[in-house]
Amino acid sequence: MKTNRAYITLTNTFSAHNYHSLPVVLTKGKGVWVWDVEGNKYLDMLSAYSALNQGHCHPTIIKALKTQAQRLTITSRAFHNDQLALFLKKLCTVTGYAKALPMNSGAEAVETAIKVARKWGYYKKKVKKNCAEIIVCKNNFHGRTTTIVGFSSERQYRDGFGPFMPGYTMIPYNNPAALERTINKNTIGFLVEPIQGEGGVIVPNKGYLKRCYDICKKNRVLFIADEIQTGLGRTGKFFACDYEKVRPDIVIIGKALSGGCYPISAILCDNHIMNVLHPGDHGSTFGGNPLASAIGSAALDVIIREKLAQRAYKLGNWFMNELKKIESPRIKEVRGKGLLIGLELKKKARKYCERLMEYGILAKETHETVVRFAPPLVITKKELQWALPRIKKVISG
Ligand SMILES: *Cc1c(COP(=O)(O)O)cnc(C)c1O
Repeated sequence: MKTNRAYITLTNTFSAHNYHSLPVVLTKGKGVWVWDVEGNKYLDMLSAYSALNQGHCHPTIIKALKTQAQRLTITSRAFHNDQLALFLKKLCTVTGYAKALPMNSGAEAVETAIKVARKWGYYKKKVKKNCAEIIVCKNNFHGRTTTIVGFSSERQYRDGFGPFMPGYTMIPYNNPAALERTINKNTIGFLVEPIQGEGGVIVPNKGYLKRCYDICKKNRVLFIADEIQTGLGRTGKFFACDYEKVRPDIVIIGKALSGGCYPISAILCDNHIMNVLHPGDHGSTFGGNPLASAIGSAALDVIIREKLAQRAYKLGNWFMNELKKIESPRIKEVRGKGLLIGLELKKKARKYCERLMEYGILAKETHETVVRFAPPLVITKKELQWALPRIKKVISG
């Protein structure tokens, strides 16, 4: 089996058809570059939806993975292991939170935040039993569990998967007045993405997060930020909320927390919130295992040591300006922050992503009409300069 086509046919035979992948079969990755089974080389401008902020197979992370994999991989939380404490201490020190709770996938961390927020609502805010409400935003993306898709506004995410969990109210994104209006005595949390990534790289107005945070504080509602895609340097700050000096009550992270080497996610919050959990309340067999912890520690080290947030800030601003210079009647808008950039077209973006692939650039459409450019943050200006004329050619050619 040597061709892309052969692997794709085989995949289509044995895989559920829940993805519309670009027709390329990757076999190797290094930094910002990937290779397909036919030997073609591409610039990865998706980074596995921001799981690869540190780039493919970062040597520091791979080394930690190999070393730990040969020593101890999992204990379950029935026993302690010597890697978890160090990982959580590092995570809390870097982020300034008192406690962290490790999970695996992003969706699981969102579920964890919801459980913690609800329990806080009943035991601390004293909301009436089974009446807790969480406010979410239209056009959100928080994952794929039945609870989470139940509060999605995307019809396809919901269709065929009901009945759904009660206790969620949806308001428009980027609208603090709607939040203020909607909060009632049973509201315990406001779950929000600082930038809606899957929703099409939607950047809210300046001051939006701060306004919402202040409204939450005034009403004793937990401000819960889903930074799974925007966090860990992607938008040019460690957290996207840092732009407005907002310190969420609960932060949800995942994706780049492992540098793309393992599924690792977590929630962060202070003691008065995390302490509502007691032994038996919540758990995960793989969550916080020593292999994940060693990888997570290394992945954090790389973000800090290589100043990835600062890189994303500088290179992202430059790259976005260059993209804005492309003159084409097909472009509706270029927007984003740091190296999370959306180029919105007036028509469907899929065809353009397929053309970009022919020019050696892997990007994926999101929300039909948006091409997302989110390369690994280890990318250099030279590599972005390599990509620009190719993007220009595909978009305006
Ligand atoms: C990717 C993502 C998730 C879900 O993460 P999974 O690891 O796919 O479960 C949740 N929220 C946001 C903002 C994401 O980008």
